[in-house]
Amino acid sequence: MIETTELPAPLLPLERIAWNYWWSWAADGESVFRDLDADIWEECERNPRQLLAKTSAYRLAEAATDPVYLERVHRLDASFQSYMVSQPHLQLETITQEHPVAYFCAEFGVHTSLPLYSGGLGILAGDHLKSASDLGLPLVAVGLLYRYGYFRQRLRNDGWQEEHYGETHPNDLPIHLVMNADGTPLRIEVLIRERNVLAQVWRADVGRVVLHLLDTNIPENAETDRWVTGHLYGGDRETRIVQEMLLGIGGVRLLRKLGITPRVFHLNEGHSAFLTLELAREVVQTMGQPFASAIDVVKQQCVFTTHTPVAAGNDEFDASLVTRAFGPGYFKELGLSEDEFLALGRVDPANKSERYGLTPLAIRMCRSTNGVSRKHGEVSRVLWQKLWPGKNVEDVPISYITNGVHAPTWVSLLLRHLLETHVDQDWEARLRTPEQWAEAIARIPDEELWMAHMQLKERLVAFIRHRSAQSRIAAGERADYIEAANTMFDPAALTIGFARRVAGYKRWNLLLTDQERLARLINNEDRPVQFVFAGKAHPQDEGSKLVLQQLARWKYDPAVRQRAVFLEDYDQEIARQLVQSVDVWLNVPRRPQEASGTSGEKVAINGGLNLSILDGWWLEGYDGTNGFAIGSGNDTADVAKIDARDAESLYRTLELEVVPLYYARDEAGLPRQWIAMMKRAIQTLAPKYNSDRMVEDYAQKIYS
Ligand SMILES: *Cc1c(COP(=O)(O)O)cnc(C)c1O
Repeated sequence: MIETTELPAPLLPLERIAWNYWWSWAADGESVFRDLDADIWEECERNPRQLLAKTSAYRLAEAATDPVYLERVHRLDASFQSYMVSQPHLQLETITQEHPVAYFCAEFGVHTSLPLYSGGLGILAGDHLKSASDLGLPLVAVGLLYRYGYFRQRLRNDGWQEEHYGETHPNDLPIHLVMNADGTPLRIEVLIRERNVLAQVWRADVGRVVLHLLDTNIPENAETDRWVTGHLYGGDRETRIVQEMLLGIGGVRLLRKLGITPRVFHLNEGHSAFLTLELAREVVQTMGQPFASAIDVVKQQCVFTTHTPVAAGNDEFDASLVTRAFGPGYFKELGLSEDEFLALGRVDPANKSERYGLTPLAIRMCRSTNGVSRKHGEVSRVLWQKLWPGKNVEDVPISYITNGVHAPTWVSLLLRHLLETHVDQDWEARLRTPEQWAEAIARIPDEELWMAHMQLKERLVAFIRHRSAQSRIAAGERADYIEAANTMFDPAALTIGFARRVAGYKRWNLLLTDQERLARLINNEDRPVQFVFAGKAHPQDEGSKLVLQQLARWKYDPAVRQRAVFLEDYDQEIARQLVQSVDVWLNVPRRPQEASGTSGEKVAINGGLNLSILDGWWLEGYDGTNGFAIGSGNDTADVAKIDARDAESLYRTLELEVVPLYYARDEAGLPRQWIAMMKRAIQTLAPKYNSDRMVEDYAQKIYS
């Protein structure tokens, strides 16, 4: 629990700002906090409440008597206040404050100080909330507060990944416990495993959007039940299903208690699919309708987004586990027999040997299902055609909305400044008029764009050296090796980033297919190439840990260790450093398993160039002038052959296109054609792959 020291009166606006994550995407938000005390800021993982509590009284007094600093605080506060009451961009008849969208997700990546996400899905959900807030779309979000969020990664000296779990202390975070009118903590109840499980509720403010987080870690619960919200994706199948019951059923009960009547329930991935059963139960119980007609009422209100392009990635449970977790009471309240209940989660309702899947349940109970890119929509229609026996695959009613990223969160401050200067003070609004946007980007002088990019690369090199030295010290490495961290990497060299989960289909090992050829690229004296890697392997995935270990072995190889680095503990902060600064972002998924991918979109908005397999969003985004493609897009059935061909294409593209273009300089030392390609990326990709466009698409095509 934070002991809040009294803030000097002139700094009180900071207290108010600290409670709303809006600051994290405001232009001066981060630096106003960091400038109070940069060391504490890093120590407390950029949590503004902890910063205010831990900064010394003397330092606070200094800031409170510094007119220049106070002017920044006031300006930030004023823009916060006007943001909160600004006119919505998006006015819909059906979605209103009284009847908002209820957005359910098992993870939310809003900010690094709120560690409730593991990767892409959570970050996407965080970006969705931020854009809903920016656009003024009425939306409330529901998730879980995990006591231990996703694991923290460290690599041992031999390169093997170790996991640590840091405990989240809600009282230290900028989140409020939600109270009843009488001042007692609001609680909801769900019968799980035939025990009544209570959850308290936390509220995080994300601009104008409220994120509600259910938390079972309270003394009234049985010890086992306190752990329902213990770990994000940490436990076994049973933990998973009880979490999903709490999220879906508990989430609906929470909204009812708060008096919120959503127009639409958005199931972002199948984890929250049980919410549809709770809505059906309400109809059956209060309106006395049979379940069969309750489904129609539920369907009117529910929409589903699937994120998993492979059958195995969909959540499934043994029937016995489902029965045990729900207990017989729930089926009865729905007016269903046990078998009728279980049939809802089967592709073939009559097949009793099938497991209970959340995707079939969600598809059945929602009026709309969509994938997250055009290709993923196609793949999902094939994957789930079996739920519409008799329909041709092209008639399967699964649509798509391609994922996007929240521009103000991901674009570097330096580039943002250029956009404000050359595009418009309100540059985000110009993203909605692509022609004007493209014209304005063309007007940015090459020199300025390149200068900004080079400065960001210098920051990246400093960051790499800093992080590497820290982790070498922590690992007890030799002094000369620690010292060597201070000279690694060169801002002038072509810098390629590769950061993502270490999972089979992401094909981390593709780049290592021909290590000698790779070493020649890296060590070319005139045209060197540098690689920055980051990413976590699932704790139980030994194969992926071996891949990491293979990569980590490089760190002692004198030939490459100055030009290739693995940064431990990939998270939102490292992602921001990388996507804002690299020249090239590499992505080599096995087609068509990258549902969308979003990290490359973050890079594109910053003028970085994608070098990627034509899959997910890049299949739509690539136009031959705004980045690089690997492979042809024609696949045979033979996986080994595809891998070999893609590896060859990757090396050739690097050797013949990427490296020569980067090092082709004019008399002034500028890579004019490269800069032209950077501009093409910003011009053509930023207006399409941002989350304002995505949320607007959801609002127009799915919600209303
Ligand atoms: C954007 C992001 C992701 C998603 O990236 P992919 O393109 O799906 O690999 C994952 N983790 C973090 C920390 C991110 O910022």
